[in-house]
Amino acid sequence: VSSTQPLFDRVAIIGIGLIGSSLALALRQSGLAGSIVCGDASEQHVKMAMELELVDEAMTDNAQAVRDADLVILSTPVGTLGGVAESIGPHLKKGCIVIDVGSVKQAVISAVAPHIPANAFYIPCHPIAGTEESGPEAGFAELFQERWCLLTPLPGTDEAALDKVRQVWRKCGAKVEVMEPATHDRVLAMVSHLPHGVAFTAIGAADALAGDLKQEVIRYAGSSFRDFTRVAASDPIMWRDIFLNNREAVLDILRRFKTDLAALEQEIVRGDGAALERRFEHGRALRRGVTGGRFVEPPVLKDAGK
Ligand code: NAP
Repeated sequence: VSSTQPLFDRVAIIGIGLIGSSLALALRQSGLAGSIVCGDASEQHVKMAMELELVDEAMTDNAQAVRDADLVILSTPVGTLGGVAESIGPHLKKGCIVIDVGSVKQAVISAVAPHIPANAFYIPCHPIAGTEESGPEAGFAELFQERWCLLTPLPGTDEAALDKVRQVWRKCGAKVEVMEPATHDRVLAMVSHLPHGVAFTAIGAADALAGDLKQEVIRYAGSSFRDFTRVAASDPIMWRDIFLNNREAVLDILRRFKTDLAALEQEIVRGDGAALERRFEHGRALRRGVTGGRFVEPPVLKDAGK
């Protein structure tokens, strides 16, 4: 993150949680923002944002927070973004750029775009960066370093505005790519939403085990299971909203996954060692491709959603 001339006199961040506070810190370091203000529904988070010196001003009134802002960042949970956009729409400065960071794109665009006035620019974004923590204390300036940020602009988006948004993410350390919203939702259903669904389910299955066995599971949990518990520690509201709002893509990937899981089950039932070996060899080869940078386009995604 390097220092530069402010690109925006005033930046407003609505929702000063993990992503909002990380952006506040990264923007401050980058020198892209003259001043930063935040709006958040939680009085406690507003107080914390000032105590932690994340922003110059903080308030619970979102409409007040966006006044005179040249860049408005919406970083509240996916299910709240439409309501937030509706409440700030009439108060946006002419020519201001609005971005959201929601983990789902098609549903968020449908909810937000109608509330952004024609004299402002709306550019949906998704930084693929996060931790299982939430709230303003969880943020850190390096969160976006070397991580992807996917932009899913609407047709006819102003090139100059798009370019400014690219600069914001690059200055925060991210690698930027433009993508169709539908493609984004299918890719994320596979690489993020499915793994989270599996982790939440696996933890639930372990918890449902009876008495002694459960204690032994907790005691002897190896690194694979610990990875599940880390992923399953993610924010429940965020994940509720992601599954509700990326319904089609997630259901499609879940169906494919269940088919494959049933095939694995049958191979075990049949005692089909050759099939199991082929399956695991394939998995290992894919992984080696990933680490060697060759797992660019997972085959499972090529016809996803058909
Ligand atoms: P978070 O830490 O829970 O922060 C969200 C903040 O927004 C909280 O302070 C919350 O207050 C506040 N808020 C909720 N409703 C609001 C409203 N109507 N008006 C103003 N403030 C409101 O969540 P996060 O992890 O930063 O996620 C924020 C967004 O980034 C989500 O859309 C998520 O999908 C996306 N995202 C998250 C990750 C990740 O890994 N965490 C990664 C990429 C993108 P309360 O806590 O009091 O509700």
